[in-house]
Amino acid sequence: MINNNEKIITAPKELFSWSCNQHKLDRRIGIVPTMGGLHEGHISLIRTADRNCDSVIVSIFVNPMQFGQNEDFNLYPRNLEADINLIESANLRNELKLFIPQVDEIYPAGFNSTVHVGSVTETLEGYFRPKHFDGVATVVLKLFNISCADTAYFGAKDYQQVCVIKKMTADLNIPIDIITCPTIRDVDGVALSSRNIYLSTSQRVQAAVISQSLLMAENLIVKEGCKNAEKIIDQMRDKILSAADTKIDYATIVEPITLKELKILDGHNEIIILLAVKIGSTRLIDNKIITGIS
Ligand code: AMP
Repeated sequence: MINNNEKIITAPKELFSWSCNQHKLDRRIGIVPTMGGLHEGHISLIRTADRNCDSVIVSIFVNPMQFGQNEDFNLYPRNLEADINLIESANLRNELKLFIPQVDEIYPAGFNSTVHVGSVTETLEGYFRPKHFDGVATVVLKLFNISCADTAYFGAKDYQQVCVIKKMTADLNIPIDIITCPTIRDVDGVALSSRNIYLSTSQRVQAAVISQSLLMAENLIVKEGCKNAEKIIDQMRDKILSAADTKIDYATIVEPITLKELKILDGHNEIIILLAVKIGSTRLIDNKIITGIS
């Protein structure tokens, strides 16, 4: 069992001073920001940080600022003991600190600043979840400042989020490297997500159409040479809507950096297919990065 007193830090100032000491010892710090509800997707990020750094910080903070009014902030899975056990079973080689602040430690009374990243936040998730990325960028910048980490690890599963973080880091000259780690999937292809626990047994089975539609699109592009985005998206839509109780917020093919929608794939070496699908009331996102197509 992880010794909670030793491993858990709740106060930002305490984490800051621990990190300063790590740097004095010439240790490179990696941070993995999470909202808890940990699964093997998170663990893969933590393992990568553990391999590449000397000390690892995993933050667990369900960030109210990135949830809309009608979203699942109150319902969001919180199970600290299970999270700690999962991290412990990963048998990491380096010193690890869990940063688990209370909301009022991150947003004390009178808190009144927001980080807004332009352009890449305006489409897709940004369109369906207004202000979501302001909340993400604000908390992530705070975590970067509090942790003084050298490297931060994010999952490709939240592709647009990584674009936003990279843009913020470049635009604001934040001295941290951003590493993107691959999406970890269940055996049936469903991307692991803390929100998968909201799905009923039958919905969990239906959820496989999301990754299946991405694979189908990849085949159309890579094997059949299809370059017409509309045709590809139409087939994906048909596949997803063939499953019960599904609704598509968006299904689109975009340019990887600007996230501008593509109609024709000719001349693009790398493209991203992005999806947001509701199964019942559970909203899931997924994507596929396709390279070497032109
Ligand atoms: P969350 O706790 O959902 O905010 O996620 C914390 C980090 O884990 C983010 O960088 C996510 O992109 C990443 N992540 C979530 N699910 C997966 C997954 N299935 N594979 C890889 N990374 C993931």
